[in-house]
Amino acid sequence: MPAALALLRFPVEQSRGRRYPESRHPYRNEFQRDRDRVIHARAFRRLENKTQVFPASLSDHFRNRLTHTIEVSQLSRTVAVVLGLDESLVEVLALAHDIGHPPFAHAGEEELDRQMQRFGARFDHNRHALRIVETFEQRYARFPGLNLTFEVREGILKHSKDLSPADGREFDEYLPGLRPPLEAQIIDLADEIAYNTADLDDAWSAGLVDADSACSAIEEFAALWEREATQFPGATERERFYEVLRQLVDALVTGLIEGTREASLAAGAGSVEEVRSHPVRLVRLTEETQRLNRGLKHFLHKMVYGSETLLAERRASTARIAQMFTYFMDDPERLPESYREGLSEQPAHRIVCDYVAGMTDRYFEKTYRELFG
Ligand code: MG
Repeated sequence: MPAALALLRFPVEQSRGRRYPESRHPYRNEFQRDRDRVIHARAFRRLENKTQVFPASLSDHFRNRLTHTIEVSQLSRTVAVVLGLDESLVEVLALAHDIGHPPFAHAGEEELDRQMQRFGARFDHNRHALRIVETFEQRYARFPGLNLTFEVREGILKHSKDLSPADGREFDEYLPGLRPPLEAQIIDLADEIAYNTADLDDAWSAGLVDADSACSAIEEFAALWEREATQFPGATERERFYEVLRQLVDALVTGLIEGTREASLAAGAGSVEEVRSHPVRLVRLTEETQRLNRGLKHFLHKMVYGSETLLAERRASTARIAQMFTYFMDDPERLPESYREGLSEQPAHRIVCDYVAGMTDRYFEKTYRELFG
């Protein structure tokens, strides 16, 4: 196994700490406490009723955003342990990485962003996640939000892209222009590995892809598919598919471990500060697995995300989100009381956006039926 990158581990005792200082816990360190706070948050439980890719109305077997999150956590913890990084920091960031997602997956995010642009604002799920942990979760008497450590908040904000000074003064404290620690960088690629392979699995169950289409589009899939036929001649097609899928996951995770180790050694990074100041992220796949990852992605776009089943679903969700957003913007007094209170402090479009973004798919459906029949 590749040598560990223990020198690049973020040392929990060097955390910049919490906004509101707290005394130490007798046996959990600060990142372990943050992990537990996220697990007990309402926004975390809501993930269960948010779509990942395939809506729950089609089958109970598909991933939802909660089971996807657990898969990302599992993959990224493996990578962290092998590389000698902080497992708890990676775990909390994995568990929190999608809590800012609105209902109806990417269709929901794009439509909310489109609606916000009419008012010169934007919607971004990373920033929304930060608002959730900083403000919306109200479970502590002594402070608003979850009072998470700086590194966890930074990792939430930078999980899928870096922050630049041009992103605005409001994020100045989060070290714009610097990379986050490796623990935070892992999440984005672990997320990709998890959803590319899981979407292939779910698409197989949904009948959108089969062995022929996968073999002709993805070289690595074809090679493994042939190999499994020789190794398990009596296996059913389904068993053979799972053997192949499991090896694809393993190849990608191994590629992530090796790619990161190679890049970190090549950069000569010997400390967290050097990870931060390096011009690009050091967490990456090897070239070979980047190719595999691209192949999977391309295949899924063509066969799954662009399929009529999902496109029809997407058009319907988009239209209904737009309709609900407009309904509340036409008269913000229609918002529930707890949201109306915010209208004196923030523009109505932000409050309406927060309200809709916080809904689960199920709650959205229920509200929609109540409002529009
Ligand atoms: Mg995700």
